[in-house]
Amino acid sequence: MNPNTRFETLAVHAGREDFEALGVHASPLDLSSTYPIRDLEAGGASLEAMALGGLPQGSSVYARLHNPTVARYEGALAQLEGAEEAVAFASGMAAVTAILMAAAQKGRHVVAVRPLYGGTDHLLASGLLGLDVTFAEPHEIRAAIRPDTSLVLVETPANPTLQLVDIADVVAQAGTVPVMVDNTFATPVLQRPLEQGATLVLHSGTKFLGGHGDVIAGIVATNGEWAIELRKVRVITGNILHPLAAYLLHRGLPTLALRVKAAQEGAAFIAERLKSHSEVGEIHWPGFDTTGIAQKQMSGPGSVLAFELKGGFEAAKALMASVKLMTPAVSLGSTDTLIQHPAALTHRVVSEAGKKQGHISMGLVRLSVGLEHPEDLWADLNQALVAAEKAAAILA
Ligand SMILES: *Cc1c(COP(=O)(O)O)cnc(C)c1O
Repeated sequence: MNPNTRFETLAVHAGREDFEALGVHASPLDLSSTYPIRDLEAGGASLEAMALGGLPQGSSVYARLHNPTVARYEGALAQLEGAEEAVAFASGMAAVTAILMAAAQKGRHVVAVRPLYGGTDHLLASGLLGLDVTFAEPHEIRAAIRPDTSLVLVETPANPTLQLVDIADVVAQAGTVPVMVDNTFATPVLQRPLEQGATLVLHSGTKFLGGHGDVIAGIVATNGEWAIELRKVRVITGNILHPLAAYLLHRGLPTLALRVKAAQEGAAFIAERLKSHSEVGEIHWPGFDTTGIAQKQMSGPGSVLAFELKGGFEAAKALMASVKLMTPAVSLGSTDTLIQHPAALTHRVVSEAGKKQGHISMGLVRLSVGLEHPEDLWADLNQALVAAEKAAAILA
């Protein structure tokens, strides 16, 4: 597409360039698990190309190796992130795992900044992949790099505290070591890490990219070299995205910017209201950033926020039990508003030391504002906060 094409236009048309030639208006959904091969030499050559991380030379051969509907979505997302290629996985965690397995081929040491999504922290801390991990503060990255460091991993805004990390600064500190940025919270609508020098952009497609709470997916936008390594891991481990999920993700792309911006407006409204509530302590939201990082690398603050309840865990329990309109559930970036308690749920698997390092307190609540009317959301949250305040007062 024309390199000057704007984001919203790309989001509508990317991955649909050949529709007219195909005579279709919606994405052809190919659910084949296998493909007929009459010519053994040609089929074998295609299989071998894919086993080496390349693209099919003709036949897709077998759907664990390649699927045209998945490839179509990968091409579209790559365009939105300004990447050469993208590689899609069965979940965000499958994508993180593939990146770490590919990185481990070059060196077994990884530097990561906390907080991270609970699953990512768990994977890194588990030792499952045989990696040596240094959890560093953002300003300690340079000092943490070793000759065998193969990856620097950051989230910004980070899950669940919305901590912001200066991507260009991390890239400078990392030197020749590739930097992976988890862009799940910001989406390419609000932040494009490759423009800041990152090598890999990760998304849990389960969140904003899927956007409707009905898909589990992961995708990595990167350069051609890394895409080959990631596809190689994907072929071997069998972690490819399901084509129906790819279809739904692609179907949601044209409305991504609309959804992200509308939810962001709702979040701004809620964040302002929270400021003056007696039960609410610190509010974490890029819109209230005082470091200048949000301004530097994001075009908007997004719709996920976190806040501290003065009444701690007892208040949080009462809050979760009292919301009526908001959905008390993990995950984020859906059309409906989701509220959850990281220490008890998404970050339960993070060690005590990890929670401390990541500032994940017992009074912290994470809120992903959806597309409901902000006044209705506030009415619900306000009554739940009153219940939370009462519960904490009784126990105090
Ligand atoms: C949810 C999430 C993940 C993991 O994605 P899944 O699709 O649940 O496997 C990774 N990073 C962040 C920031 C997330 O919020």
